[in-house]
Amino acid sequence: MDYDVIIVGASIAGCTAATAYGRAGLRVALVERQRNPQAHKTLCGHFVLGGTHDVLQRLGFWQPMVARGAAVTTGLGMWTEHGWIVPRHDGAVPPAISLRRSKLDPLLREIAGATPGVELMLGHRVVDLVRDDADNIRGVVTRNGGTGSTELRARLVVGADGHHSTVARLAEVPENRAPNERFLFWTYYEGATMNGPGDGQVWPLGRDVAVCIRVDSGLTQVGVFPAKDRLPEFTAERDAAYDRFVARLPDGPSLAGARRVSHLIGTTDYPCIRRNPVPRPGLALIGDAATASDPVPAVGCGWAFRSAVWLADATAAPLAQGRDLRQSLRGYRRSHRFIDAYDALGRREALAGPPNPLQRAIRTAAVSDRDISRRLALFAMRAESPSVLLNPKVVIRAFAGSRGRRSRSGLTAASTRYPEGPGEGGGLPS
Ligand SMILES: Cc1cc2nc3c(=O)[nH]c(=O)nc-3n(C[C@H](O)[C@H](O)[C@H](O)COP(=O)(O)OP(=O)(O)OC[C@H]3O[C@@H](n4cnc5c(N)ncnc54)[C@H](O)[C@@H]3O)c2cc1C
Repeated sequence: MDYDVIIVGASIAGCTAATAYGRAGLRVALVERQRNPQAHKTLCGHFVLGGTHDVLQRLGFWQPMVARGAAVTTGLGMWTEHGWIVPRHDGAVPPAISLRRSKLDPLLREIAGATPGVELMLGHRVVDLVRDDADNIRGVVTRNGGTGSTELRARLVVGADGHHSTVARLAEVPENRAPNERFLFWTYYEGATMNGPGDGQVWPLGRDVAVCIRVDSGLTQVGVFPAKDRLPEFTAERDAAYDRFVARLPDGPSLAGARRVSHLIGTTDYPCIRRNPVPRPGLALIGDAATASDPVPAVGCGWAFRSAVWLADATAAPLAQGRDLRQSLRGYRRSHRFIDAYDALGRREALAGPPNPLQRAIRTAAVSDRDISRRLALFAMRAESPSVLLNPKVVIRAFAGSRGRRSRSGLTAASTRYPEGPGEGGGLPS
């Protein structure tokens, strides 16, 4: 074999896996279709949830990210119709981090490419797979511009080539698609002032969502995620619709003296895609190639880092020792269930329905109940499995707490409904 592992795609998932395998002493081909080491993904909000903090620390990525200017967020405030859920900053919830992909992707490629054992092959587009007589995947064929085709062989091929994964298509891996009923746009500001609590804010507004986050270089990112019934408004006059939406956020950022430093970035349709992460003998999928989730909860980069590490943890030793990989790939499959559980919930959320009674109860209770607020933050940061929040004890307490709060504040079920969001006819309480 030419290599122990071939990894297709040198972005978040691929560079992470290559770094981990290289450090474990393996021979790794890291194959990337882009020629330019500075190439980066543009359609990404790059907010990496706190649940990934441990992995980033362990890999030694956290400090270099901070050194390149990444903003660290220790607590997001969440707006509710009963007041803000204020983050406690008591260290119970791991911090999130944000570094624009124009800085993050080259950094990760630099780290992976400098890792002994890793051969970074830029400008190599994978166009075919190599199979043995038993139909196990044993390698890839790449096309490298003018220089023709190269065949590479390894015991394990890893598809880290994003949500349209060529590797998965070539291996005929079925994909499971689910609709996303929101669209999204964001931009960056210099000199914006946040007015909500915490070092960033989230507004779940009926069927719509908005966020305000600090990113690298002192910039502030303001993103809107409206339900698709608002698309005509944004299609007609995108910038004006965005400005209106942001201006009506309760305790939203002050932008009057701020300078917008990019045009609006976003997409009007981004379906959720899921594939079996261990679909064929000799093949594993990581990052978006395995699960491309709704961008609203900002999970994808974290899943890419984490799934890459889970795969390397499960398979590095058997690869080094020449042992059979089947059992270790099953181990990776089991780890991936953490993502599957959140993805199942995320797919329901992506339908952009109005908040259900449980969501309302949890958010209402979290305004005054410290434990529920901590659990909600751990859930939102994907720092623990969904049961940290969605368990019978918490649910009962949330309903009891939210009933008490509603009756104390004299609000009725009807008056707490928030059906419209801040667009046309939204009627935001301010
Ligand atoms: C609008 C939007 C906003 C988002 N915001 C956030 C956010 O705020 N936070 C968050 O955590 N996630 C966010 N995400 C998700 C995040 O961008 C992805 O989950 C993440 O980029 C996945 O990383 P990856 O390494 O798996 O794939 P990618 O980053 O897509 O990388 C795939 C790599 O494979 C290479 N490649 C593809 N085909 C081939 C081939 N045939 N041969 C060789 N190389 C190939 C590509 O060039 C690329 O380098 C967002 C996504 C969208 C669409």
